[in-house]
Amino acid sequence: MRGGNHGGAGRSRAGADLLLVVEDEPTVRELLSASLRFSGFAVESAATGDEALAIAGRDRPDLVVLDVMLPDMDGFEVLRRLREQRGGAAVPVLFLTARDDTADKLNGFLVGGDDYVTKPFQLDELIARIRAILRRVRGESAAEGTLSVADLEIDVTAHLVTRAGRTIDLSPTEFKLLRYLLEHVDQALDKSRILNDVWRYDFGGDAGIVESYISCLRRKVDHVEPKLIHTVRGIGYVLRRPRP
Ligand code: CA
Repeated sequence: MRGGNHGGAGRSRAGADLLLVVEDEPTVRELLSASLRFSGFAVESAATGDEALAIAGRDRPDLVVLDVMLPDMDGFEVLRRLREQRGGAAVPVLFLTARDDTADKLNGFLVGGDDYVTKPFQLDELIARIRAILRRVRGESAAEGTLSVADLEIDVTAHLVTRAGRTIDLSPTEFKLLRYLLEHVDQALDKSRILNDVWRYDFGGDAGIVESYISCLRRKVDHVEPKLIHTVRGIGYVLRRPRP
């Protein structure tokens, strides 16, 4: 893993990205906040969902590290309310989950989130993922123009997705994945390549996350005919132009 290699200056507070750490266990919260500050981030922290929403609304963090199990509401509810707040629609969210969370539950939490790390986690891995998310969120705003296949269209500049003229809300990572599929229309893409190109980890990741995000995309943008996202058995996925 490369060390000390993080994304550009971006939106900054004295040059540092602002992270909001939401975690009710004081020891974990303090250790995490101190470690992230030491790694060059500006950090605010919250112990409850309500507190997190208040801080996020006021200070507009660049990314939220969100524990799933909180005393007042779960992380999924925090995310839902965050997305409804002014300016909260696009903030990337990385979940902290417990090892015994079931896959179903994880899929639920993943909807609208950008990544997750299972407790107990390695700090190095968490920091690498935070930087990867910030890189890919920034990468999007640099590009311009629109991409389309059939009645699916994304406007990269406006960060807007429509299917048959209807606007669809996607999280930053869902948008990035869909854009990637559209940029490689009619090409079979294997999961590890997608993981590498879209998530841009500096280390091996879990292809399961690709599957989870593909099912999110199918639910959101491909629930109507003609189906555009197809599974390529034994390889991965392809976004295919429908035959006339
Ligand atoms: Ca907790």
